[in-house]
Parts: sequence; structure tokens; C-alpha cells
Amino acid sequence: MGMVISGKDLSAEMKRQMSARIKELEQQYGRTPHLVVVLVGDDPGSVSYVTGKAKMANELGMKNTTIRKPETITEEELLGLIAELNADRTVDGILVQLPLPKHIDSEKVIAAIDREKDVDGFHPLNVAALWLKQPCLLPCTPKGIIRLLKSTGVEIAGKRAVVIGRSNIVGLPVAKLLLDENATVTIAHSRTRNLPEVTREADILVVAIGRPKFVTADMVKPGAVVIDVGVNRDPETGKLCGDVDFAACEPVAGMITKVPGGVGPMTITCLMENTIEAFERHMQKH
Ligand code: NAP
Repeated sequence: MGMVISGKDLSAEMKRQMSARIKELEQQYGRTPHLVVVLVGDDPGSVSYVTGKAKMANELGMKNTTIRKPETITEEELLGLIAELNADRTVDGILVQLPLPKHIDSEKVIAAIDREKDVDGFHPLNVAALWLKQPCLLPCTPKGIIRLLKSTGVEIAGKRAVVIGRSNIVGLPVAKLLLDENATVTIAHSRTRNLPEVTREADILVVAIGRPKFVTADMVKPGAVVIDVGVNRDPETGKLCGDVDFAACEPVAGMITKVPGGVGPMTITCLMENTIEAFERHMQKH
């Protein structure tokens, strides 16, 4: 029986520490970190993510502002808003909720954010810094995954890690962070041949593909640590489910995350942590 790694519990612990830190910072600097979230349009998924971020910031006592703009906003107007937020010394973190409407070039918008306020860690200079092992704001989901792994006490160094998925926001950065922790890393994707053979080699298996219950028990090495990043709807029950068939894999795995309650809470918690980090750097500079 695999031990369940709870992102919910770790997130609660991190929240307690961050709340205390925010109080200290407020005493020291006379204000709390300030996160600004920009939401374009009213996609229900995006609205729910943005609401979740504001809720956690409020719980922590962190100043936060959500700026809502209509779907019809032009790219120029959005870039103008980013420029204003960049110049505003009372703003420490800027997050533009993705996806953006098709007429707006997301890459251009992300690149326009001051890299020191880029709390999502998506700015090209932050991505470059990650790959060059320089200080930077790390992308939240990969950062949260490493936090979760470290919380288990399992040694990462020297282990075989397999990441399924090679997206810019999850697969690639988490593979790099695992490499930085001295794991021997394989990145698998849709063109990987004999995927079960590859995944069965993994002491640590991270799955970020976006396919409900894709990873089955025969793909998991007995005793492996399995981290499920996927957020999907189960086509049979309509309920939220991961990329890993939890019921089938849990008896084989040594440790495993659940969906929901695994990686999800860590992503948003790491966003808060990044905002505090951005604030601290900002205050030290000015
Ligand atoms: P993505 O950009 O769609 O990338 C999916 C990756 O999975 C691609 O690299 C793709 O390979 C690979 N893949 C797809 N089908 C595959 C298959 N049959 N076999 C092997 N590899 C396959 O997705 P993403 O943005 O990384 O997100 C992945 C999942 O994580 C989604 O469910 C998303 O909702 C979830 N997610 C969760 C959080 C969180 O906070 N919990 C955060 C971000 C994302 P190719 O490159 O070859 O196409």
C-alpha cells in the first residue's frame, strides 16, 4: 500500500509559516507583499483559479488585487496595463491568468512583465536563469512538486526519475529541477516508444500529460514515488481525476499523490511564496 503524500497538509504547514513571515515583513516595511492578478474574459476555469489565488492571499494577510478586463481588450491595452503595473512600486507580483484570448500574443505579454515581478516564473529570462542555475522566480507547479518530494524525506540524489510530459510549464522545468537535485532524469512524451518499459525504471515518476487515469499499475515500479500532476474530468464519473489511475497504482507505489489534494494545493502555495520572495528582493533593492 502506497503512502499518500498530501499536498493539502504540506500547503497548510507552509501557509502557517508564510502568514507569520508576512506579519514580520509588515512590521519591518510597513506594508505586506502585493500580488496583482490580471484576468481577461470570463472563462469559468480561469475565474475559479483566480478566485482561489485571491482567497489564499487573503487567508495569509497578503495584499492582492484582481484586475478584470473584457475579452475584447486589445493586446496594446493589455501591454499598457502591464507597463503600469511594472512601474508601480507598490506592486510586487504580477500574474496574467492564461490562456489569453486568441487575438493576444501570450508570449509577448509574459515577456513584457518585469522579470522580478514574474511570480509565475514564465518570463524567458526566468526560464533561462532556471536552466543556467541562476537565482530566479521558479515556476510554481514544478517548485511545488520538488517541495512535495522533499517533504517525504526520500532521497532524490542518485535516483532514476522519469517525467512524462515536456511542456514549458510543468514537464521541462520539473525535469531540470530533478536534475539539479542529482536525479538521473528521463523525459518521456507522446513519441516515446515502449513507455511502460521506461516508466517501470522510475524510482520517482512524475506524470504531467492531461489524460485521465493514463498511468496504470503495470507502468509503476514497485515502491516508486508517484507524483500525479494531471487535472482531468473522469469521463465515467465526471469527477476530478489525475493522469494516474490512483486505485490501481496505489497498491504498487511506495508513495503517491492524490488528485485533488496533491500537487494542486502546492502550485498556489508556491505562487504565494514567490510573491513573498519577489517582495523581499524588491524591498532590499529600494
Ligand atoms: P500539455 O502542455 O498539454 O503537455 C502534455 C504533455 O504530455 C506533452 O509533452 C505531451 O507530449 C505529453 N503526452 C500527451 N499524451 C501523451 C501520451 N499518450 N504518452 C506520453 N506523453 C503524452 O500539458 P501541461 O500543461 O504540461 O499539463 C499537463 C497536466 O497537468 C494537465 O492535466 C494539466 O491540467 C495539469 N496541470 C496541473 C497543474 C496543477 O497545479 N496541479 C498545473 C499545470 C498543469 P508531446 O510533447 O509529445 O505532445
